[in-house]
Amino acid sequence: MAVAASKGFSVLTEGPGFNFELPCHFFKGCCSIYDQYKPKVCNGYFCKPLKKVNNNKLTFEEAELQIRKTLSLRQEIISLASDFAEFKGMQCYKIVDNVKAVLQAGDREAMRRYGKLLLLIIKFEQLLKEIRGIPKKV
Ligand code: SF4
Repeated sequence: MAVAASKGFSVLTEGPGFNFELPCHFFKGCCSIYDQYKPKVCNGYFCKPLKKVNNNKLTFEEAELQIRKTLSLRQEIISLASDFAEFKGMQCYKIVDNVKAVLQAGDREAMRRYGKLLLLIIKFEQLLKEIRGIPKKV
């Protein structure tokens, strides 16, 4: 943990399985410290769609499409959120957390205000669940 902090990782939750903010500042199109100290989670991570390609559960094209759709939705969320001063410059996961908090609080006015954003977030989270292999609720 101390090493992670000294390397400038923005630690979100502490403990044995600590989380840090993504994208990490070492990400420059790919990991720029691949052969140096990295949190254990980095070494253990393997892209889920690519794992499915390796296990013949998806074609490469299907996996690529899933990733492209996810990145595109992420960009749409960031772009739409930038219309709201309160979300300007915020990372996608923080926007999602904030909008979901509004939803959970049942703030009807805010729900109307963020309506389009909420719909995008629902699509985005559904896509992430598909990628992670979490079945859809019926
Ligand atoms: S692998 Fe880890 S250290 Fe490297 S860019 Fe990704 S999150 Fe950062």
